[in-house]
Amino acid sequence: MERKVRVRFAPSPTGALHLGGVRTALFNYLFARHYGGDFLLRIEDTDQTRYVPGAEEYIIESLKWCGLTIDEGVGVGGEYGPYRQSERKEIYKQYAQQLVESGHAYYSFDTAEELDAMRKECEEQGETFMYNARSRTRLKNSLNMNPEELKKLLNSGIHYVIRFKMPENEELKLYDIIRGEVHFNSSLLDDKVLYKSDGMPTYHLANIVDDHLMKITHVIRGEEWLPSLPLHVLLYKAFGWEDTMPEFAHLPLILKPVGNGKLSKRDGNKMGFPVFPMEFTDPVTGEKWHGYKEDGYFPDAFINMLALLGWNPGTDQEIFSMQELCELFSLDRVKKSGAKFDPEKTKWFNHKYLIAKSNGELADLVGKMLLANHLEYNKSKVEKICGLMKERYNFVSELYQDCLFFFVAPETFNEKDSKKYWKEDTATLMKELLELLKSIDDYSFANTEKIISAWITEKQLGFGKIMNPFRVAIVGAAKGPHMFDVIEIIGKEETIRRMEKALLTL
Ligand code: GLU
Repeated sequence: MERKVRVRFAPSPTGALHLGGVRTALFNYLFARHYGGDFLLRIEDTDQTRYVPGAEEYIIESLKWCGLTIDEGVGVGGEYGPYRQSERKEIYKQYAQQLVESGHAYYSFDTAEELDAMRKECEEQGETFMYNARSRTRLKNSLNMNPEELKKLLNSGIHYVIRFKMPENEELKLYDIIRGEVHFNSSLLDDKVLYKSDGMPTYHLANIVDDHLMKITHVIRGEEWLPSLPLHVLLYKAFGWEDTMPEFAHLPLILKPVGNGKLSKRDGNKMGFPVFPMEFTDPVTGEKWHGYKEDGYFPDAFINMLALLGWNPGTDQEIFSMQELCELFSLDRVKKSGAKFDPEKTKWFNHKYLIAKSNGELADLVGKMLLANHLEYNKSKVEKICGLMKERYNFVSELYQDCLFFFVAPETFNEKDSKKYWKEDTATLMKELLELLKSIDDYSFANTEKIISAWITEKQLGFGKIMNPFRVAIVGAAKGPHMFDVIEIIGKEETIRRMEKALLTL
C-alpha cells in the first residue's frame, strides 16, 4: 500500500533559524503539499547544553511569517505527539535498551579523561583515535565484561553511555534522492553514542526513533547530515524497521555571495544583509541580528527567492506564488551542488512583488507608516502616489520616504539642487509662475500641463529653466514624479503655499 507522504522539519532550538533552515522547512512543506501529505514540526531539543531560550518560539513565528503552515507537531498537536523530544525521554530509553539486547549496542563506561588519554596516545603514534571495532576491545565497555561485572557497574549509578556497535569493514551502498547512490565504508565510522545515563538520547537515536514512530516517509534535510546517513540506515536495520525506512534527500549547501564557503550568520552582518527571517537578539550574548521581516521584505518574495536556492522549475520563470511552487516542486529538480546566495537578487524579488501589488494594497502599507508618524492622509491620494512611484523601489519604506513631501511641505531645500537650479533670474520667473498658478482653478494634470506649457513656450524659455526650480520649490529637491502629477495631488492651495514659502526662503 502506498503510504501517505509525511515529512518533518526538525530544528534544534539552538538559536535563530538561519535562512538555510527556512529553505529546508520550505522544501519539506512544498513536498508535502505537492503530494497532499503532512508537514510536521518536531523540536529536537535533546542537547540541553545548546538550548537557547526563545528559539522555539522564534522558529514557530518565522514559519508562520513565511506562510509555512504546520499540519502536525509542536504548537499544533497531533496523534503522534509529544513532538518535543525532551518530552519523549521515556520512549528513547526503551529503544536504546532494545538495541543493547539485540547486540547492536553496548554500554560504555570510559570517562572523558580516559578517552582523552587514549586520544593522546594515538596522536603520539600519528593516528586518530576512534571508538570502533578496532579499539573497543581495549576499552571499558560491556563487550569486555562478564554479566556480573556489568550489573554491578550499572547498579552503582556510575555514568555510562550506550554506543552503537558499528560493524567492521562493511561496504554500504545507500540511496539519496538528490545524489543517487552514495557509498560509505563502515570502518570509517565510529561507535556513536546513542544514549546517556542522564536519560537523554543523542540526536541520532531520537531522530530515528521519532521518524519511525511518527511514520515519516521522506527525510529532507541539509547536506551537513549526509555523513550521518550510514549510521541512520544501520539503525533502521538494527531495529528491524527497514521496510518502512524513509527515503532520504540531502539538500545542497547555501553558499556565500562571494567565495565558496557556506553562508554563515556572520556573513550577513559583514555584508549588510539579513540571514534570519526575523530579527533576533541572542539572549546569551545580547547580539542583535537583522531580519527579512523587519527589513521590509515581503514574505512571499523571501520564499520565492529561497525556493530557487537549489531548486529550479526547468524553465525561465522566476516569479512563483506559493501555490505554483506547491504544484511544481519536485526533488528531482533539486541540484547537488551548492547554491550561491545573492542579496541583490533578493532585493530584486522584493521589487517584483512590490510592483505587482495593487495601488490599494500599497496605499494601505504606506498609510500605516503615515499614521505611525501622525500624518493624516486620504486613501485615494496615497493610491495615486503609489501608482506613480512604485516602479522605482525595492521596499515600501523607500517609497514612503520618497513620497513624504506629498504630506509635509519641505522645511528645507536641498542645497545642491537649489544651487544648481535656483539662478539669479529664477525668483522673477517663479513669481510670474505663481501668478499663473493662482489663476488656474482646474489642477488636473491635463489642464496645468496645457496652461503652463503654453506659457513657457510663449516666453520662449527652456522647459527645464522653469520646471527644475518649480520642483525644488514644491518638493524641496530635484526628485519625484512629474510636476503636473505632483500639483494635481497636493492641489492648488498647497501649491501656492509652497511657492510662496520658497520665494521667501530661496
Ligand atoms: N535537529 C537536526 C537539525 O537541527 C535535524 C536534522 C534532520 O533533519 O535529521 O538540523
